[in-house]
Amino acid sequence: MVIGIFGNNITAKVAFLVLRARGVECRLFGKLYSDDEALLHRSRFASRTMAISIDNLETLRCIMDCESLFEKSGVIERILVLNGQDSKGHDVELRARDFGYDKMGYIIDYNGLCEEIDRAIDGKMVCDVRGIKRDGGGFIVERDGCSEGLDRIILTDGMYDDICDFDVSEGRVGYDYKEYGMTINVEHEFLHNNTAIEWFTRLGPLALLPMRDGKRSNIVRTIPSDLARDVMELEGDKRNEFILSYLTNLLSGYVGRIEILGDVSIFPLCVGYGRQSKDDGICFIGTKSFIMHPIAGQGFNVILRDIERLAESICKSGGFSDFKGSLKRKIDVLSMLFMTHNLNQFFKISNPIISGVRRLGMGIFNNIDFLKRACVNNAIGTGFFNGGKGV
Ligand SMILES: Cc1cc2nc3c(=O)[nH]c(=O)nc-3n(C[C@H](O)[C@H](O)[C@H](O)COP(=O)(O)OP(=O)(O)OC[C@H]3O[C@@H](n4cnc5c(N)ncnc54)[C@H](O)[C@@H]3O)c2cc1C
Repeated sequence: MVIGIFGNNITAKVAFLVLRARGVECRLFGKLYSDDEALLHRSRFASRTMAISIDNLETLRCIMDCESLFEKSGVIERILVLNGQDSKGHDVELRARDFGYDKMGYIIDYNGLCEEIDRAIDGKMVCDVRGIKRDGGGFIVERDGCSEGLDRIILTDGMYDDICDFDVSEGRVGYDYKEYGMTINVEHEFLHNNTAIEWFTRLGPLALLPMRDGKRSNIVRTIPSDLARDVMELEGDKRNEFILSYLTNLLSGYVGRIEILGDVSIFPLCVGYGRQSKDDGICFIGTKSFIMHPIAGQGFNVILRDIERLAESICKSGGFSDFKGSLKRKIDVLSMLFMTHNLNQFFKISNPIISGVRRLGMGIFNNIDFLKRACVNNAIGTGFFNGGKGV
């Protein structure tokens, strides 16, 4: 059986490498980006990082040289959660060693991750696809001057929808948050001690993620769209000045003086969930299947778990049915979508009474070990909602 994976993105490439490593015969098809598009993508994602949880490290290790990537990456040993702009101290503290781990995950540079994945792909992507047709039980991929047959196909985004002569709609439900995610690399005066801070401010959540150097962090900030537009309109230096004064007000008590490194990246945010194809030969993963709010850095982590589940389904039953029908998978994806969406909505309410209730709730949570363990295990990918037994 030959499986075709479609997409020139990290989901498709990692799926290809994982399936191949599990002994599945597969082909990778992607539309080629021009040099300008690739350069633009690199600069747009220059200050983007990926929090990869420890449960997913083995997936990455089996497909590429991770040790050099991890050597350049930050480590999360502790997470502090703060409620409110004027928070004087943390409301929740989660320490990896309290739950039997030496770390919760790595903070990996997005462009560095893409480079390592591309090195592992080593030119194996086919880029001249012109059309995809249904052919009896299988598929025919039409390429420049030739065609090839596939038994099943995996789609990772909507890029090929218009060249398929069969239905590939996922009937997505969801909406645009009218919010943007802003990512910035900063250098600060005090050591971060491998601590990630998740801060729920009036404007939206802010995460401070430790990078390799003890005095460097990556900031992921959610801001309303009108403010994002104002920020984007400001010229380079003025933009950095504005952001710096805002961050200094907020963070100087934690990390001291701050300096912005490089450019700020800004991304529109949305949430979405699509149904799987009814066709047994077609499977959707990645953004073709769901998109979630980056508040907890979970999007790609869930995609990595999906890729492992898909590999298991193919190796066990020879197809996609186990994957598509898996209740554990649905619970994992939907609970993460629900949790990230509602966390964002709930913490956006700036009413002082609600803020007091939140602080009380977080104080109670902070003192119940069982709940903290369940939360950490689910974030790491070994929890009950991920299909594991861990609480
Ligand atoms: C602000 C923010 C922070 C996030 N943080 C985390 C996190 O910490 N942990 C986590 O697990 N998930 C995180 N996510 C989610 C994660 O980024 C996505 O799940 C993941 O990137 C989806 O990958 P993909 O395969 O769809 O596309 P990607 O490969 O990431 O590509 C994104 C887009 O760029 C295009 N593209 C890709 N390569 C190129 C190229 N060379 N040239 C031109 N265009 C290109 C693709 O077609 C696609 O449309 C975050 C998301 C956001 C918005």
